[in-house]
Amino acid sequence: MSAKLIKGTEIREAILEEITSEVAKIKEKHGVVPGLVTILVGESPASISYVTLKIKTAHRVGFKEIQDSQPENISETDLLALIDKYNKDESINGILVQLPLPKHINEKKVLNAIDPDKDVDGFHPVNVGRLMIGGSEVKFPPCTPAGIQEMIVRAGVKTKGAEVVVVGRSNIVGKPIANMMLQKGTSANSTVTVVHTGTKNMDQHCKRADILIVAAGVPNLVKPEWIKAGACVIDVGVNRVGEKISEKTGKKIAILKGDVDFEAAKDIAGYITPVPGGVGPMTITMLMLNTLKSLKFKLNIA
Ligand code: NAP
Repeated sequence: MSAKLIKGTEIREAILEEITSEVAKIKEKHGVVPGLVTILVGESPASISYVTLKIKTAHRVGFKEIQDSQPENISETDLLALIDKYNKDESINGILVQLPLPKHINEKKVLNAIDPDKDVDGFHPVNVGRLMIGGSEVKFPPCTPAGIQEMIVRAGVKTKGAEVVVVGRSNIVGKPIANMMLQKGTSANSTVTVVHTGTKNMDQHCKRADILIVAAGVPNLVKPEWIKAGACVIDVGVNRVGEKISEKTGKKIAILKGDVDFEAAKDIAGYITPVPGGVGPMTITMLMLNTLKSLKFKLNIA
């Protein structure tokens, strides 16, 4: 293997340490800590496990954390009223609604009801607009793209003038990361191409990339011959391709694969993220960072 491995697990630890120490300082000086509420509707095991991890991380960094669990049959009106309550709650800086919501609830309506200044997921149209404008307008970059950018920067990869190719144009990964990398300023200033299912000669676009960001959800989509020697390859894909028994717990767990043929790519790329243990751990980390930022904006110390 010649590529340097960019480990999300290690970067996560460093960032969570930084957040913990900043939270302690703010608490000492201002007497407050960031407040995060997680609203969980229903009892889907996957949603419970995501929410549990978010709560555990929030506690670890010293946040005030409220887990608000609601029954599957909560009405849309009641859920909107709950959001309104947290919008007005001075001790809450971040509101998170765990998706997906039950079918009788309009997800868009619920997410759009969150105060954009507490929308730490960064999905509210106001925050999408702020991200598009860039610079000091940006409040909460969406968590997975923010994690990707942080990994590139912390790995020491030069972004200014770099050819960035993004595979995928979803609203949660592809479009926002493309937008973030083309902004003027540090950590970006790249030349960006976005490829998708309508793109001709995708391999040739990928081959040009100094930084290749892949978020398609197709296992092993990117072949080794699509990668430029020495490129930085960020594999966002998380694809369940089977099951195995965990050596740690003895329980059945999913076998995960990324969108890049890792085994072959690691001998060509200069930097590469593993799956799992790459981009995955960064998402919740950036959610914590956004919640801390939200309090700092409120205290005017950002
Ligand atoms: P998505 O909404 O399904 O979007 C996938 C995008 O990839 C679409 O724009 C699609 O193009 C494009 N695409 C799919 N197959 C393609 C192909 N064969 N050639 C070229 N483009 C192709 O997916 P997403 O939400 O962005 O997620 C992508 C992957 O990242 C998934 O595996 C997901 O699990 C993972 N993910 C991981 C994290 C994390 O680690 N924290 C967070 C979010 C997502 P069209 O627009 O033309 O259909």
